[in-house]
Amino acid sequence: MGFRSHLLSIYRYNCFEIYLLFYHGRTVPPCSEQCRKQNCNSFHIGFLSLNNPDRVDHCAGDRVNGEDRPCAFPAVEMIVCIPFMIINGHIRPVSPEVPDRNQQSVAHVVFFIDALQRKCDIGNIVSNRFGGVRGIGDLHLAGITHHVLKEDVEQFRLAVQKYLVPVADSIMREQAKRIGKPYPLSFADSSLEFRSGNPRPVGTAQDILEQGKKFYDALSPETSEFFRTMLNEELMDVLSTEGKQGGGYCNSLPMYERPFIFANFNGTKGDVEVVTHEAGHAFAYWINRKRVPMAYQDPSEEACEVHSMSMEFFGWKNAEGFFGPDANKFKYSHLSAALTFIPYGTMVDHFQHIMYEKPDLTPQERHAEWKRLMGVYTPWLRLDGEIPFYSDGEHWQRQSHIYECPLYYIDYCLAQTVSLEFWAMIQKDPENAWKHYMAYTVQGGSRTFVELLKHADLKTPFDEECLKTVCEAAKTWLEHFDLTGIA
Ligand SMILES: [Zn+2]
Repeated sequence: MGFRSHLLSIYRYNCFEIYLLFYHGRTVPPCSEQCRKQNCNSFHIGFLSLNNPDRVDHCAGDRVNGEDRPCAFPAVEMIVCIPFMIINGHIRPVSPEVPDRNQQSVAHVVFFIDALQRKCDIGNIVSNRFGGVRGIGDLHLAGITHHVLKEDVEQFRLAVQKYLVPVADSIMREQAKRIGKPYPLSFADSSLEFRSGNPRPVGTAQDILEQGKKFYDALSPETSEFFRTMLNEELMDVLSTEGKQGGGYCNSLPMYERPFIFANFNGTKGDVEVVTHEAGHAFAYWINRKRVPMAYQDPSEEACEVHSMSMEFFGWKNAEGFFGPDANKFKYSHLSAALTFIPYGTMVDHFQHIMYEKPDLTPQERHAEWKRLMGVYTPWLRLDGEIPFYSDGEHWQRQSHIYECPLYYIDYCLAQTVSLEFWAMIQKDPENAWKHYMAYTVQGGSRTFVELLKHADLKTPFDEECLKTVCEAAKTWLEHFDLTGIA
C-alpha cells in the first residue's frame, strides 16, 4: 500500500477517533474538547511524526457535533502509531520505548517484543478498543464504517473457505515437502518458502528500469507513453542513497498532473514490484490526471489496489527480463503468495467482526476465537507449537491493522481476488485481460468499487463464481507447474 493510500485509510477509518499525541516522553492532551469534556477513557492511538521531531502532529481528524471534520494533515512522510493505555487517568504508551526518528521501523517490533518479554497482555489493553462500541450495529454510529456490506463480506468469507482454503492448503503441503519439514508447518517453517532463497531480479537498478520500459512498451500505447514520461521527467526516485528516507510509495503531483514514485531499490524482488505495483498506481493516476472533479481521480483503496496488484500479474509477461533464471520461481512464488494471503487476510477481518460483536470477551476468549479461526482459514499451521504466543492463539496482536485501521484489512483481500481474476484472464487471453483492465482503470474514482467492476465487465469478489473460477484456474496451473530445479 502506498503512503498516499495509507493516509487516506487513516482518514477514512479513524477520523472519528480522538488522538492523543506523544513525543519523546511528552504527552499532549486530547486535541478534542469533546473528548476532554466527556472524560473519554477509550483506547487511543497516537501519531508520532518522525519527519519533524520538534512538532507533534495534529490529529488526523476530529469529530465535532457528530460530523467528521478533517484537520489539515501535515506533510509528514512517515507515521508511526504508538498504542496507548490509560492508567489512573494518565496516558502511558504500551511500550516504554519511544523510537528515535531514525528507528521508525522498529516501533512495532519494540512494542511486540516488549509485550512478549513482559508477558504483557495486549488483549487487555485493546478491550477498550473493542468495547468502545457495543455491537457491530454501533460501529456505524461510532464512525467505524465499513464501506462494503456485512452480508457481502460474509458471502466472500464462505467462498474463501470453500474454494480458496483447499488450494492454499495444497500449496503449503507442497512447501512442507520441498523444505523437508513436517505438515502442518510451524510458524517459522511456514515462512521459509524456498531453501535456496527468494527469486532475485537480475542486473542493476538501471537494468530493472530498462526492463520496465520494455514491458510497458509491449503492453499498450498508453502504458508506453506513461512509463517513458516517468523516466524522461525523472518521476521515479528509486535509488537508495545515503540519508534517504526508507520505504516506497506512489504519490501524485496534481499541479503538474504527474504521478511520482519514491522507492529504495535493494536488489530484491521488491524492486520489480516498484516497477509493477507502484507503477500500477501511478498509471491509474496518469490515465485520470485530467479528470474533474479531482476527487474522482482515485477510487477507494480496495479499488486502487486492483490497479497495482493486477499490474503485478501483467508483469509476468516480462518475468524473464526481470528475473532471468529465477523467472519461474518468481511466478510460482507470486501466485502462491496471493492465494495463501487471502485466507489469512479474511481471517483478520472475520476476527475483528467477532471482537466488535462481542466486546466483553476476556483476553483468553479472544485468543481462543483466533485459534478457532486459524483452524478454518490456515489449517496448514501447527496449533500446538513450542512458542505459547503462537500456540495459544495470541498472535493476532501482531497484526497492527487491528489497532490502526479497524475493518480495513478485507480491502487487501478483495483487491487481491480481483487481481487473481485478471491473472486467470491473462492466462487465457492477455489482450482481452488488458481491455478489461483499461475499462476498469479509465473510470478513475467516478464509481464505487462494485460499480467499477461491473462497468468493466468483471466479476465482483462477492459473487461466488469469482473465487470459484479463479481457484479452478489456479489449481490447474499449480498442478501443471514444473518445480524441478526449484528448491
Ligand atoms: Zn499499493
